[in-house]
Amino acid sequence: MSRFFSEKYNKLTPYTPGEQPQNMQYVKLNTNESPFPPSPKAVAAASKEAENLQLYSDPTCKVLHQRLSALLNIGEEQVVFTNGSDEALLFAFMAFCEKGAVFADITYGFYSVFADLTGTPYRTIPLKEDFSLDINDYLNTEETVFIANPNAPTGLALPISDIEKLLQSNPERIVVVDEAYVDFGAESAVGLIDQYDNLLVVQTFSKSRSLAGGRLGMAMGNAELIADLQTIRYSTNPYNVNRMTMAAGAAVLEDEDYTRKNLTAIMDNRAFAAEKLKELGFEMTESLTNFLFVRHPRIEGGQVYQRLREKGVLVRHFDKDRLREYNRITVGSREQMEILLTAMKEITEEAL
Ligand code: PMP
Repeated sequence: MSRFFSEKYNKLTPYTPGEQPQNMQYVKLNTNESPFPPSPKAVAAASKEAENLQLYSDPTCKVLHQRLSALLNIGEEQVVFTNGSDEALLFAFMAFCEKGAVFADITYGFYSVFADLTGTPYRTIPLKEDFSLDINDYLNTEETVFIANPNAPTGLALPISDIEKLLQSNPERIVVVDEAYVDFGAESAVGLIDQYDNLLVVQTFSKSRSLAGGRLGMAMGNAELIADLQTIRYSTNPYNVNRMTMAAGAAVLEDEDYTRKNLTAIMDNRAFAAEKLKELGFEMTESLTNFLFVRHPRIEGGQVYQRLREKGVLVRHFDKDRLREYNRITVGSREQMEILLTAMKEITEEAL
């Protein structure tokens, strides 16, 4: 750290992203990316748009608004597009957390980082022993609630009726529902944004739409909330969505068949891998995401991680209380799952 670093930041512990090895020697199941390339239409649109990179991107993101409203019937004033959904979450911390923030002790690691970065006081509430979240713990909080639904890294989802209870219990407080993984089988709260002006739903193009490297996310909510987030966006970087990403995102929204086909494949592969892992003695949560959260009763989580790595399979291990026994494994293609299962079989046999 240099002696010039601002005091307000010099105690920050930044988020640790999953490894991105540059040589693809690993079967990469550690950062919940899609195993499928982006829609060919998105690839073509982004390549074409590269010819215009001398020009700034459209700060109004018009083409994205048009395509999204055709798909979800959501007005332009109800959405803000961001550089990945991480940026939408950061904007929400900047805009709406004067009374602090509250979230689960086990959830997406960026919430506490953004809280620290923005000087937001926060409180965490422990998940129950089985990693489920008790909605009653959040009913009347003063602080802004951040809920990943489904949650990461546990994979568990709440029913929409629980989200509604939260929204009703304190209309003076915002509930941010982070739906990064919602397309893999959970219920979205987007349908509630007309009804509740204290709801902000955050989604991403990184997972179900295969655009993690493009960095595109969005926050959806009541027009006044979105106007506040636009104020933050225009005060930081109005060109936050670059030209190629905007073109790719717009094309993806026109290729829902491709997205649906990939989602079905991932959900099938999830069921397949879950069943086979259970046969090998692994235990896991009921995941409604594109990852499995698994442990083996007889083999340490860190050891499973290390042995998989030696066998060329990269998964995510969190060396933290309550998570240490587990590994988070991205659901990939059928071929990737076969390689994972072969490696897991060997690991369980070695441990006998
Ligand atoms: N929320 C959750 C729960 C996540 O796991 C992730 C992915 N790491 C994100 C948000 C952010 O995704 P992105 O910035 O790629 O949209």
